Amino acid sequence: MNTKNLGFNSKLIHAGDFRDEFGSAVTPIYQTSTFSFKNAQHGADLFAGKEKGYIYTRIGNPTIEVLENKLAELENGYGGIALASGMAAVSTVYMSLLEQGAHMISTGAVYGPSRGVMETHFSKFGVEYSYIDTSDLDLLEKTIRPNTKLLYLETPANPTIQLTDIKKASEIAHKHNILVCVDNTFCSPYLQKPLDLGADVVLHSLTKFINGHADIVGGAIIAKDKEIYNTIRKAMVYMGGNMDPHQAFMVIRGVKTLSLRIDKAQESAMKVAEFLENHPKVEWIKYPGLKSFEQHELAKEQMSGFGSMISFGLKGGYEAGKTLMDNVHLATLAVSLGGVETLMQHPASMTHAGVSKEDKLAAHITDGLVRYSVGIENVEDLIRDLEQALEKVTYS
Ligand SMILES: *Cc1c(COP(=O)(O)O)cnc(C)c1O
Repeated sequence: MNTKNLGFNSKLIHAGDFRDEFGSAVTPIYQTSTFSFKNAQHGADLFAGKEKGYIYTRIGNPTIEVLENKLAELENGYGGIALASGMAAVSTVYMSLLEQGAHMISTGAVYGPSRGVMETHFSKFGVEYSYIDTSDLDLLEKTIRPNTKLLYLETPANPTIQLTDIKKASEIAHKHNILVCVDNTFCSPYLQKPLDLGADVVLHSLTKFINGHADIVGGAIIAKDKEIYNTIRKAMVYMGGNMDPHQAFMVIRGVKTLSLRIDKAQESAMKVAEFLENHPKVEWIKYPGLKSFEQHELAKEQMSGFGSMISFGLKGGYEAGKTLMDNVHLATLAVSLGGVETLMQHPASMTHAGVSKEDKLAAHITDGLVRYSVGIENVEDLIRDLEQALEKVTYS
C-alpha cells in the first residue's frame, strides 16, 4: 500500500505492510533463518542484487523488513535497519560512522551505556570523544576538531531532560562536514522528527515507547539518505546485530498504538508534573510541558508534544529518594521507560550508582533525583500513589 500521503496514525497501522498470498490481515512471522532459491540462477541473481528477494535472515527477512520500512516512513528517512537492541543500534552507528583517529562529540548526559561502550571499547581502537553539554551551542562549536566526524545527540537527555536544539546543532555540524545522529528514544517520531530538523541519522531503543509494552528489547537506525543507509546496513549485516523475526512482529504490533499511548501518557504527565511542582517536599522538577522548564520554548518548537518523562528532585537527597521508592505501590520500581505501566527509578542508588560524584554533578544527576515514566493508568491513582509515598519522606 502506498502510505506516503497518509497521516501519521494511518502510517502507524499500514506503512511498510504487505499482503501475503493468504491475505493475512497482520504481518506474519517468517520465523526462518534461510530462504530457498528457485534454481541456481535465482540464487546467483539474488546475491548479485539483480533480483529483489530474501537470502538469509541476518541480511533480510520479510517480517523485519515491514518494521524497517514502517519506521523509515514514520521518521521521514530513506531506510530503516532493525537491530537486536538499542545498544546494538548505538554501537553499529559508532562502528560504521567512526574510524581510528576520528573524533566524536556527544551529549554528556547521554544514556549511560552509549557513553560506556565509547569509553571502554571504541577508545581501544583510537576513537576520540568529547562529552559536553550540547545545549550550549558555543561550546559545541569550540569543541569541534579537524578530525570530528560525528555529533551524537540525545534530546531530551536521560535523566536530566536537557534539550539540544537539533536544527541549530545540525547547522553547526554540517558547516564542518560532521554527520549528526540523534537518539530519539525519549520522543519517538510521534513527538520529534530529527531528520526533518537536519539530522542525518536517527536511532531508537524500540524497547521503550515504540514497542511500548515492556515485553521485548529492540533497536533501530533510520538514515536520511541512501549512501549513509548502505554504510550502516553493511556494518549491521557483518557484525550481526540483527533483530529476530518474532521480535519484529511484537514491535509491529506495539507501534500501532504509539500515538494513542503517548497522547494518554503525556496528558497524565502534565497533571503529575503540576502536582509535583506544587508539593512542598519536591525541590525541583523538570518536565518540558511546565512553564518553569528553562527550555519550554525550545520544547514547543522542536517537539510536537511534551512526552511522559519527568525528573524531579526531593528535598532530603539520597535517603528521601530511597524512601519514596520504597513507598509507592502503583508505580513499578524498574529501569526502562515508555511502557503502558508507570515506572520509577532513582539514578543515584540504581542506574548511576557506579558513576563518580564529579561525573554525576557534571551531568546534573543529584542524589535526590527521581525519574518517573508516566504510563496509561488513571492519573488520579498515580497522583494518590505519589501523595501517600511523599508523606513518608522526611527531610531536615
Ligand atoms: C534504553 C535506551 C537505550 C538502549 O536501548 P536497549 O534497547 O536497552 O539496548 C539507548 N538510548 C536510550 C535513550 C535509552 O533509553
